[in-house]
Amino acid sequence: MKKIALHWQILIGMILGVAFGWGMTNFEGGGDMVENWVKPFGNMFINSLKLIAVPLILGSLIKGVSDLKDISKLSKMGGRTIGIYLITTVIAVTIGLVLVNLIKPGSSITEETRMEMVDSYGGDAAKIKANADLQKESGPLQALEDLIPSNIFKAATDNGSMLQVIFFAIFFGIGMILIPEKTSTPVKNFFDGFNEVILKMIDLIMLAAPYGVFALLAALVVESPSLDLFKALGWYAITVIVGLALMIVVYNIIMYMYTKRSPKSFMENMAPAQLLAFSTSSSAATLPVTMERVTEHIGVEEEVASFVLPIGATINMDGTSLYQAVAAVFIAQAFGMDLSFATQLGIVATATLASIGSAAVPGAGMVMLVIVLAQAGIPEAGLALIFAVDRPLDMCRTIVNVTGDATVAMVVAKSVDKLGDPHVKEWNDDYKKK
Ligand code: ASP
Repeated sequence: MKKIALHWQILIGMILGVAFGWGMTNFEGGGDMVENWVKPFGNMFINSLKLIAVPLILGSLIKGVSDLKDISKLSKMGGRTIGIYLITTVIAVTIGLVLVNLIKPGSSITEETRMEMVDSYGGDAAKIKANADLQKESGPLQALEDLIPSNIFKAATDNGSMLQVIFFAIFFGIGMILIPEKTSTPVKNFFDGFNEVILKMIDLIMLAAPYGVFALLAALVVESPSLDLFKALGWYAITVIVGLALMIVVYNIIMYMYTKRSPKSFMENMAPAQLLAFSTSSSAATLPVTMERVTEHIGVEEEVASFVLPIGATINMDGTSLYQAVAAVFIAQAFGMDLSFATQLGIVATATLASIGSAAVPGAGMVMLVIVLAQAGIPEAGLALIFAVDRPLDMCRTIVNVTGDATVAMVVAKSVDKLGDPHVKEWNDDYKKK
């Protein structure tokens, strides 16, 4: 039998998962059965991806930085990476703002619907707000201060911060560049080997991907709220989705103009990572696959990918920033507020920063939205309005977050002459051969 490509396998897993979840909701106790007997497999799959994320970032960044062999190359690539990431984020926020001002999805929300939504989701929204308030209380330099972990093991735990792990890895890599080659070689060999082991582990995890996404989506369907609320939020959701789709077009244009690669093969190569981003709603969980796709299939040399992608997964969230801009203006519209041009410019700045600060996990963008709302003077109770559709939109914006990272990796690779030929090799060929 002809082997089905991985992205089709994942897609089939997703469709069957949705159908199965939906079918089960029609049975008495079906939802509980999915929760107890199917969802755990989805959780196991996500956990195994998350498990690999910290060692992957450590291994690949240390290897990536030490491969550069001199500090000036590192600062050149670092500067370019951060610069391009910022530009794409500002483009995303701008697209979001233009669309939400044109479509005006919030103006059709009546006072009555608004009250109803605040009633049904007010509690959850308050929890999110309390969470975000903790972040707001900190001083202006807090983010900078937080960059440096006082304990690397703490930074690498569940509540730790990826940025701190990234800081440690880059710092360690710089140390390696600065010591004599004779002493650094064994350390380097260790990390090269370590990295390869991690990549192989990702190959193995991906064999379970179609089953993992089946379980995740079945559970999601069983848990999702009623369709009525979705209807009221239809235009808002459409605005976000149109914006996200435009962003994908923008990436393809940038990618094509800069690298002359075909958008079709780019999208095909990225499909497994995108489908996984959609199913897990987490760029961090998707990072291992993004990495594998970009290096093994698109041809970005590891030295660039292992530097650009972990940083991107943590700070470059174009989908999130676009969504935050649309959501903020939508809430203002629903409350009958008129936002001045200056306020909207302020949203460009705060949504850019808030997206950088959002963790690469499900729902993080909504928590950070509170900061955008507060800055623009929009009622935070409005969070309750967008709650019902947040998860599906989170799934979609994570696709954009991941695709943006891959695009920038290609552009940076091309700019330092490290973009090799694309490979058409199928994901698990290597593994199957053995
Ligand atoms: N789920 C998103 C991500 O991981 C972040 C967010 O917008 O909530 O990329």
